Amino acid sequence: MNHDERAFLTHAAAQAMNYLDSLSERHVGATAGADDLMKLLGGPLPGASTAPLETIGLLARAAAEGGVVASSGPRYFGYVVGGTLPVAVAADWIATAWDQNAGIFDLGPAVATAEHVAAGWLVDLFGLPAGTTVGFPTGCAMAHMTALAAARHHVLARAGWDVERFGLQTAPTLNIVVGAQRHLTVDLALRYLGFGTEQLHVVPADAEGRLQAGELEGLLAGLDGPTIVIAQAGDVNSGAIDPIAEICEVAHRHDAWVHVDGAFGLWAAASPKLRHLVAGVERADSWATDAHKWLNVPYDCGLVFVAHPQAHQSAMLHTRADYLPPGTPGERDSIEWVPELSRRARSLPVWAALRSLGRSGVAEMIEGCCDHAQRFVRAFDGEPQVEIVNEVVLNQVLVRFGDDDAITRGVIARLQAGGECWFGETVWGGRVAMRVSITSWRTTAQDMDRTIAAIRVALDETLRAAGKAN
Ligand SMILES: *Cc1c(COP(=O)(O)O)cnc(C)c1O
Repeated sequence: MNHDERAFLTHAAAQAMNYLDSLSERHVGATAGADDLMKLLGGPLPGASTAPLETIGLLARAAAEGGVVASSGPRYFGYVVGGTLPVAVAADWIATAWDQNAGIFDLGPAVATAEHVAAGWLVDLFGLPAGTTVGFPTGCAMAHMTALAAARHHVLARAGWDVERFGLQTAPTLNIVVGAQRHLTVDLALRYLGFGTEQLHVVPADAEGRLQAGELEGLLAGLDGPTIVIAQAGDVNSGAIDPIAEICEVAHRHDAWVHVDGAFGLWAAASPKLRHLVAGVERADSWATDAHKWLNVPYDCGLVFVAHPQAHQSAMLHTRADYLPPGTPGERDSIEWVPELSRRARSLPVWAALRSLGRSGVAEMIEGCCDHAQRFVRAFDGEPQVEIVNEVVLNQVLVRFGDDDAITRGVIARLQAGGECWFGETVWGGRVAMRVSITSWRTTAQDMDRTIAAIRVALDETLRAAGKAN
């Protein structure tokens, strides 16, 4: 590397660290709009080259001008995003610098080995059956697609149908059973696999969003042929967890495959204190979760687990072109476990996070977020203008302010504009609610107190503006 290249990359690293340094004090939401950012980043494709330093400088300005959301900071509570552990950021930088094609062992033995090791650690951490196979796709949506492709293979093979050879168009009918409050990515993955939304059998959910297992028995008894049941650990709004043990019991009695959407909720299994919430989860056939949410690694990294290795492998790449090396035992080729061929070493930050946190560190990170959720609930206990509308079992809180949707919307708008913290909005039980999702290792008790104080001010101002002040 010549002097200029080293100086430039050092400068870029410093620029990135300045951003990380600013995380806890910068305006949390974005303040720049598409027009501002187009002025900065757009224009016609330059005819001639410019210095890399100048190009990267434009990105520093995009951040300085409010074009970046501090979603990995300590007071971002929107969606379910997670932050980034410094060790995972560092491993991600190294993955980029190494630029391995992480699809095949021969193209990157160190990253393939780290992925193999991380896969084993994760199966252990979640208490999944020995022999469970693991893939690292881009996110939970692609984890669903991978797991459900394995499920499709497995249940159709049992019905005497080879779906990889003969496709779906003349295959036996495959029944797919889902809960009413499933995440939208379940439908997305099913659509990619050839199953339309109108073909799904939907089991009603209770007020917390849990699939009503009592309804499952009757439904399955009325279905004939290969069946997949999809359960959820961690509703994206309420955090509610389906009665997974009961679902597995009923579904397996009917020879159905059980897939679990545990995008963030599966992480409860990694905590001795919280594991009871997902009791029986190890009895499912496949699981999808994210590392980029609660494990706090940078985007993008999902995780898929399948308890039937042969189904998993058959559903992914099961023929090798002549130019690819044959698989060698003990040498992981990730192309066998995910839909992609060429891919970045996104599992390297996962390996680094697990290696650095250890079992207790992971558990503490998960439990800490749940403790913060309880602190939030306690802070507003007994306040007439604040209503916690869900049963807070994990890291998700749904809250309403005042006595109509407009007050709740008003509080959210004031908080977003204030920049101290950021919350999104949802509709729960037909009413508007503010979503609180706590998934960042950076969030401290002080951040929670600061956030709670900001909410009190925003609520006061909103009530006063609406002429409803006490
Ligand atoms: C976030 C989420 C997903 C989708 O995950 P991606 O990583 O965005 O693909 C699926 N299910 C649940 C419950 C989620 O919270």
